[in-house]
Amino acid sequence: MPRIAIVGAGQSGLPLAFGLLAAGYDITLVTNRSPDDIRKGTILSSQCIFDPALQIERDLGINDWDDVCPPVEGIGYAVPHPEQPGRKAIDWSARLHRPAQSVDQRVKMPAWLEKIEARGARVLIQNVGVPELETLAQEHDLVILSAGKGEVVRLFERDAARSPFDKPQRALALTQVHGLEPTPDYSRVSFNLIPGVGEYFVFPAYTLSGPCDIMVFEGVPGGPLDIWRDVRTPQEHLAASKRFLDTFLPWEGARAGRAELTDDKGILAGSFAPTIRKPVLTLPSGRMVFGLGDAVCVNDPITGQGSNNATKAARIYLDAILAHGDRPYTREWMEQTFEKFWDYARWVVAWTNSLLTPPPPQALRLLGAANESPALASFLANGFNHPPAYFPAWTDMEATERLIREHQAVPLAS
Ligand SMILES: Cc1cc2nc3c(=O)[nH]c(=O)nc-3n(C[C@H](O)[C@H](O)[C@H](O)COP(=O)(O)OP(=O)(O)OC[C@H]3O[C@@H](n4cnc5c(N)ncnc54)[C@H](O)[C@@H]3O)c2cc1C
Repeated sequence: MPRIAIVGAGQSGLPLAFGLLAAGYDITLVTNRSPDDIRKGTILSSQCIFDPALQIERDLGINDWDDVCPPVEGIGYAVPHPEQPGRKAIDWSARLHRPAQSVDQRVKMPAWLEKIEARGARVLIQNVGVPELETLAQEHDLVILSAGKGEVVRLFERDAARSPFDKPQRALALTQVHGLEPTPDYSRVSFNLIPGVGEYFVFPAYTLSGPCDIMVFEGVPGGPLDIWRDVRTPQEHLAASKRFLDTFLPWEGARAGRAELTDDKGILAGSFAPTIRKPVLTLPSGRMVFGLGDAVCVNDPITGQGSNNATKAARIYLDAILAHGDRPYTREWMEQTFEKFWDYARWVVAWTNSLLTPPPPQALRLLGAANESPALASFLANGFNHPPAYFPAWTDMEATERLIREHQAVPLAS
């Protein structure tokens, strides 16, 4: 059986490792943080994962939190009224056909790491750079680098044609809390868009201390939500979160009045430029390394797709490796495998990037029309499962109007 090394034990590398191990491959997993390091660290993501990606985890037998993680049952969408403070210009919500789920990566990744070692993978805790990649490439038939946003992924060449941004488009922050008031009727990702200021979304999750909610802030650089640089302590971070909500989104502020941090590490602030990279890295020796997940396709979290992409990429790579048998892993095979993923991911990237700049009129028309059409709201909510479904309507006005007409005629099935 081929020997495969996977560098990085995150949402892409671990599912791939589980799939290969189950098929009998010899797996070495190298990552720079031990299970305890991760458990004791800060939160890393808001990691809302929609049903098709959860299905991949179920197929691999690694869906270990279904009984404890609160379901995310729908998507809500709000835009504050520009002239009437405290009121909404757009306000709709719709149920997902099947729930999404957000398990704190501090819970999930350590448990998966321990599980994969117990199932027989060789796990090494080591920071990987070029010398380590060379050694791994000498000793394995294929080396996959799934190191997320780690420095090492900069070794992959940026794909300028596929990367419209060369700097961060949002100041990002996460605030993970207990005590948030639930939404009426069903749980959801409550997404709020404040033109020119940024976005806020919040949804139920599961963390080290049990069920919680995770707040995600996306501030336009230099604007009133680009506030995290001056925050010094976890409590200041929570206070800044609440202050922002009370000022700009009072209906969300009201939900957060009694919210308390899940723990002092339940916060995060930072920024990065959404970037697509070329998937094959040639080492000084001439040996190759194949990129997976955020390492080669990192999106802004505004659409909550990174973990979903990472899981779907892992599935595509797994199928390609299994279909390849024991033939050598050539550059051509790596590029073709990445292109299979890109056939899907390019729509996710286009949709995500469109929300980072002033949204196209087609998108605004759709989001507004969903106010009047529960069937369209349902269609838009369920697009989070499979963003290619938004196209061509997201960017082509004829298709936009056609989609709206089709859904206006449809009563929403209960
Ligand atoms: C603020 C924020 C909110 C987000 N919210 C969502 C969301 O709601 N929904 C969603 O789908 N996605 C979300 N994401 C994105 C999601 O977290 C990532 O896309 C996903 O985790 C990527 O998986 P990955 O396996 O590629 O990388 P990661 O999960 O980041 O894993 C990378 C791994 O590589 C290891 N590593 C790094 N460098 C090295 C090195 N030099 N040597 C060895 N190991 C190394 C790390 O320790 C880690 O184990 C969010 C991201 C952020 C920043």
